This record gives sequence, structure tokens and C-alpha cells, in this order.
Amino acid sequence: MNIVRVALDLPLPRLFDYLAPDAGESDIGRRVNVPFGAGSRTGVIVALAAASDQPGAKLKAVTEILRDMPALPAEWLALCEFCARYYQTPLGEVTSFALPPMLRRGKLPRMKKPAAAIAASPAPSARDTVPGASARDITTATVPRPLRPQLMAAQQEAVAAIAGVVGFHTLLLHGVTGSGKTEVYLRAIDAVLARGGQALMLVPEIALTPQLEGRVAARFPRAHIVCANSGMADAARARGFLEALSGRAEIVLGTRLAVFMPLPRLQLIIVDEEHDASFKQQEGLRYSARDVAVWRAHQLNIPVVLGSATPSLETFHHASTGRYRMLELPERAVAEAMPVVRIVDTRREKLQEGLSAALIKGLQQRLERGEQSLVFLNRRGYAPVLACPPCGWISRCQRCAANLVLHLADQRLRCHHCGFETAIPRACPDCGNVDLLPFGRGTQRLETMLAERFPEARVLRIDRDSASTPKKWQALLATIHAGEADILVGTQMLAKGHDFPLLTLVGAVGADAALFAADFRAPERLFAQLMQVGGRSGRADLPGEVLIQTEYPDHPLYRALVDHDYVRFARAQLDERRIAGFPPFSFQAMLRAEARSIEQSLAFLLAGRRAAEALADGVTLYDAVPMRMQRLMTLERGQLLVESASRPALQSFLAAWMEKLYALKMPGGLRWHLDVDPLEF
Ligand code: ADP
Ligand code: ZN
Ligand code: ZN
Repeated sequence: MNIVRVALDLPLPRLFDYLAPDAGESDIGRRVNVPFGAGSRTGVIVALAAASDQPGAKLKAVTEILRDMPALPAEWLALCEFCARYYQTPLGEVTSFALPPMLRRGKLPRMKKPAAAIAASPAPSARDTVPGASARDITTATVPRPLRPQLMAAQQEAVAAIAGVVGFHTLLLHGVTGSGKTEVYLRAIDAVLARGGQALMLVPEIALTPQLEGRVAARFPRAHIVCANSGMADAARARGFLEALSGRAEIVLGTRLAVFMPLPRLQLIIVDEEHDASFKQQEGLRYSARDVAVWRAHQLNIPVVLGSATPSLETFHHASTGRYRMLELPERAVAEAMPVVRIVDTRREKLQEGLSAALIKGLQQRLERGEQSLVFLNRRGYAPVLACPPCGWISRCQRCAANLVLHLADQRLRCHHCGFETAIPRACPDCGNVDLLPFGRGTQRLETMLAERFPEARVLRIDRDSASTPKKWQALLATIHAGEADILVGTQMLAKGHDFPLLTLVGAVGADAALFAADFRAPERLFAQLMQVGGRSGRADLPGEVLIQTEYPDHPLYRALVDHDYVRFARAQLDERRIAGFPPFSFQAMLRAEARSIEQSLAFLLAGRRAAEALADGVTLYDAVPMRMQRLMTLERGQLLVESASRPALQSFLAAWMEKLYALKMPGGLRWHLDVDPLEF
């Protein structure tokens, strides 16, 4: 056995063989430097072989096998292999993605102990003595056990159910914001640590805050906690990965990419806000961290807990059919009652800058009482478009099929799709008219309007513009917590994972657009957003109120919100999906292509479709069509949906199809990818 099979980060669905006279079994899972073309690359050894199956190839020798850290374990490689198979992505691209950038490049971070000296998977230390090596453990070893609330009956049941799982099981923890889900996770983690295991907790992008880290750290002062997200500095991320790999990390708290952390004693996976779209990566390896988490739990034969107030319909469906076990937390832990949700019928009302009289009155009352309000509008910028009424000119992005959004705060026009920006023209570029008008309404415009209408109020806008860095975002949160803002204007950024004790009113404006969107998942997203944003109000001892402005006051989605009835909404949606044959009653994959012209994109998709026809047993092939937003960054995009009632049928079709797709001729500049279980259409 003197050949190593290496996964290299290349868009080719194969491994690369190299000679390695000194390689042994223990080198499987090690990084390796190899010559490639005129240069060199770093990859991962995934197998040894006695002979190459690349016929006639003159094999080159590896440059160096990197033995400076523990080898990646077999189960980690198996996880990557599963993702490569399931998402139809070359294994080298998966392993490369799953490694922190520094390790991927063949480097190592500086550690307190050399990485290779850390024994992989040490025996678990007793919980009451100071475990392991980290400085943090030592300094906090004398901290007394933190106080815990007395669990409510439903929480107790949930904790017991999780602890009682033998082997693999998926549990859905369904409970509104404030019902004590996090408390249940913490107890479940505690039980795992007491057995010497490792726990992995995944949270949405935006929910991984110092607050959450602090809460976990305060509960487990002696535990070794590692955070993982893509925003971290290279060295810190690599160190966290090595601590997980060596078994020293006991809790890993992270965003979607943390699902790839190697954890030799992993005993529990938690996915909080499992419905959140940020668990699905929209580029490169288009994986769903939630789905990968479930697969990983199955692989390791351990429980996985999915938590949400508004589970994804896929998850809810599995819970309804008994495949997942449903655990309900029916009431809030602290506030006495759920916020009162009211529908404000705006059909016959003349709104003031988009706000109804009822909402304005509500804001006024909160101001008088010294409480906070939030106006929720999921559209940032001042106005979605700048227009010249006499000649019909509107601000369009030259690179995308999209309008340029007016940002008055910094006097720019901006494309929210490609990032293109330009100064606001003083006059219409077409006719010279100087009276250009903003059309529609974004958060900046609402902020301005509210500041004028309530001069005594401190108005604070929270969106991706005002919270453009984690630091600014933390500063905004601190301002809210300190009670130094009266009226918040915010997008969905504000909807997740934060307690605002003074907030008692939420007004939702401009929500109707999502009711009739072409994307069949739009209502599901709207319901989750409104439920979540409503859940921000009325915690602690102040009752909350939610006002939803709408021209469709009788829409079942809004009625279900009034009744706080997720289950009714979910069942109605599932009925519609069953009739329409949409997921979860079918399984989908989307082939997308982009090129300089739409003809090129569609021609490729058409060729792909013809290649698929002979293979498509039990699989429906739809037509190749331009994408709804056809032009992005000067590229013209098309898509082709394939669908099947059977996941295995779809999977075996995709595997066969990919081979044909790789063999297709492509015009220069054309790029394509396959998105399995696509979330966006
Ligand atoms: P969720 O994750 O569902 O939003 P949390 O676990 O964060 O809910 O709980 C909401 C608040 O209630 C937190 O401040 C938490 O400390 C508190 N809490 C949770 N469970 C209990 C309990 N059994 N008794 C008292 N307070 C609780
Ligand atoms: Zn653009
Ligand atoms: Zn004009």
C-alpha cells in the first residue's frame, strides 16, 4: 500500500492518487501537501490503495504528509462523504469547506500545547475536579454551581424525554419564545457533560451573540466551551477546531458550519430555531446544517433536538407522522400571558406615512408610559426606488434585474443584490428633471417619519445598514437594553433571540407582500417572522401587544397569529402543499446556470434536460426557465427544477445525472450548480 487517495478542493468529482511510500493506516484523515499542475495544493488523505485506478497515469509523490495534528477521525470523513454524495459536491470541496481556512491551507495555529501532543479523545475527566488544560477552567474552578430555575412540568418532561433517548432519535422541542427551550437545552447539555460527553449546539447566524455565549458560560463555569462561526479570526477558529478534535472542548456553540466540528465524544446535538433559513448555505456546498445534524446524529446513534416556536413544515410533518418525537412547551416561563395580537384593517384608512391611527396611538401610549415599541418593516433603505414621474425613469441596477434602493442616510443608491452603489443623481439622467421622487418605504424613511411625528422620542433603527458590524450590532442591543431608545424601527434582524424587557408594542407594516409571493415558502417565513417579532414583546412583567397592519384582515395566516395557533397554520399549509405536491410531500433539486446571455444558460439547461430524460425514472423534469431575478451581477440566470416523490429515487437520479452534466460542453464563462433541497426559487 504505497498510494494515497487525496481529496483536493477542485470542482472535479474524483479523488487524486499520489505515491506515498511511508504512508500507513494512521495517515488516513491527515492533511497532505501534493504537487498539482505547476504548483502545489493541500488536501486530505481519505484512503490508502495498493494500485491506482487511474489507468496509465504516471503518479507523482506527495510532498509531505502533515502529522502535526491528530488525524481527522473516520466518522468525520464519513460525514463529509455523506455530504458529497447527498449534495452532489466533490468530496475535496466538502472536506475543504469543513476545515477552518487555516487548517485547509496546511497551516496550524499557535496552541498552548502543540496540537500533535494532545492525545486524541482523552478519557473524560470527573466533573468535580478541574478538567483538562485550559486556563479558563482553572480560573473558574472555584465558582459555585450557578443558580437554576425550578423547571416547569413541561420542561421537566422534555428534559426527561431527551435524557431517556437510547441511541438515535430526533426530538422536536416546540415552544414559543420565552417558553424555556434554552433552559431545556442547558439541562440536556448538563446531563451529557456529567457523562463525560461532548455537546454541539447550533444556532442561527444572528443569534450567536455574547449574550448567549455568556448564558452558556455562566451555566457551565467549569466547562471548556468553544464557539465557531465564519466571522471569527482564522487562528481562533482553527484552535477551536483542534480543541474539539482533541476532545478537550466539551460544548461547541456555533452557526451552521459548526456541524462539521470533529467531536470524538459527541453525545447530543441541538439545533435551535431549526426553521431558520441561515442553516441552509446558499453558495458553494449548499448544505442544510439542520439536515446534516440529523444525519450525523443517526450516524453516531445519539439524540438530536430541534427547537423552534415555528418549526419548518418539513420538521413539523415528521413530528406529526411520528418519525420525530414532539415535545411541547405550551406556556411562557416568565411573562404571564402571550402578547395580544390585533389585526388593523387598513383598507379604508388613509395611512400617515404608512402608519395607521391605531399604531400611532399605541406608540404614543408607550411613550407616555416609558415603555419601548418596535415598528417592524422588512425592507431596509429609505425607499425601494427613486423615480422621475414625468418621464418614467427609475433607478435600476445596471448589473441586475433589480432596482437601486435609495439610502438617504449616506446619500447613495444601492443594489441590495450585487452591492453596486452610486451617488444620488441631482437630476433625472434621461430628461434632466430635478424633482426625483422616492417611491415606497424602507426603514430609513420610517425612522425619519417617526422622529418627526414624535420629536420627544428616541428613535433607533436596527437593520443591516445600522448594524453593519458585530460591534455596531452589540452597541445597538446595549442601547435598547439600557432603555435608551423609545421607538425601534427594525427588520427581521431584531426578531431573533433577544429579550427586550421594556418592549411592549410591536407594529408590523408592509407584511402583506409576502402573502401572495410566488415562492411557496413565503407564507411559512412570514408566519415565523411575525410570531418571532411578536415574541419580543411583553416579556418580564409588562404585557405585550402586537398590531399587524393589513389589507387582508381575514387571511387565515393572520387569524392563526391572533390565536397563537402555529399548529392550525402548519396543518393548513401542509394540506395545501400535499395537494400541490410540494415539499415535504416531494423532494426537489434545482439545476441553475448563469452565463453572459440567457440563451446560453437556457441552452445548457436544455442539454442537461435531454441528458436527464433517459435517467429520470420516477423523477419529474420541469422546463428550463429564466430565474425570477434573471440578471445578477451582469450574468443571466436560468433554472431547471427536478422533483420526485421518493428521496432515494431522486438521489440515484442525481448521481447518474451529475456524470452527464460534467460531460456536457459548456460555452466559456458559463457556470452551473446543483442545489439539493433548495429553499429559494
Ligand atoms: P426560550 O429559549 O424558549 O426563548 P428561555 O429558556 O430563554 O426560553 O427562557 C425564557 C426566560 O425564562 C429566561 O430568562 C429563562 O431564564 C427563564 N426561565 C426558563 N425556564 C424557567 C423556569 N422554569 N422558571 C423560571 N424562569 C425560567
Ligand atoms: Zn445589482
Ligand atoms: Zn426623467
